[in-house]
Amino acid sequence: MGQIDQIEVNIKTIMESIPPGILLVAAAKTRTVAEVRKALTCGIAILGYNYIQEAEKIQKDLKEVDAQIVNQVEWHLIGHLQRNKAKKAVEMFDMIETIDSLKIAEAVNNRCAAIGKIMPVLIEINSGEESNKTGFPPQNAISLTREIAELPSIKVQGLMTMGPRFGDPEKARPYFRLTKMLFDELREHQTNHYEMKYLSMGTSNTYAQAIEEGANIVRIGTKLFGDRYEN
Ligand SMILES: *Cc1c(COP(=O)(O)O)cnc(C)c1O
Repeated sequence: MGQIDQIEVNIKTIMESIPPGILLVAAAKTRTVAEVRKALTCGIAILGYNYIQEAEKIQKDLKEVDAQIVNQVEWHLIGHLQRNKAKKAVEMFDMIETIDSLKIAEAVNNRCAAIGKIMPVLIEINSGEESNKTGFPPQNAISLTREIAELPSIKVQGLMTMGPRFGDPEKARPYFRLTKMLFDELREHQTNHYEMKYLSMGTSNTYAQAIEEGANIVRIGTKLFGDRYEN
């Protein structure tokens, strides 16, 4: 079976293995327009991109083959956002899953205000407290989420975490559990400035564990498109 056809099989397998109500984000970094288009024709409704430039390129290429398709898909930013890219991000994405500083939240808010958009966002938690990773440390997450939620042109809708990578997916559970705890805490004391609706956790290796720990958005790349390094 060709690599492109395999995508259809992969999507079917993943969709059958996740309960209803869980949103599947196809993490599409490094994938060709043919691969992405195949995923969209097989039922993928949300594309996740780490970089503005890559998403922009794919949007342009997709538009050339199918003028409608770009607007039918939901675009999520799942990588770190730099402040000088906030304007583009606000124009291109339907959700920013990776709000990881007050400054970036303010930049997004200001850019949204300028074009009259309300941007749904998730707050990224550095659940493993890894120094090389972005996201709020768990101990500041609650107060900072509340502070960010006051910004009028963004709409905080939940939390996202990557967590440390392990070979054994069971080892990811404590980090998912910690993020779920913060989510529940914020939900319990919810104000009308935010809504704890989405919890985005889990990748190819860990999505089953993430769902068991309460995720309702999973971000899957490798299991969906195939191994990047084999092409
Ligand atoms: C690449 C990526 C994923 C998907 O990882 P896979 O192991 O390929 O499924 C999920 N989330 C983020 C933020 C990513 O960068």
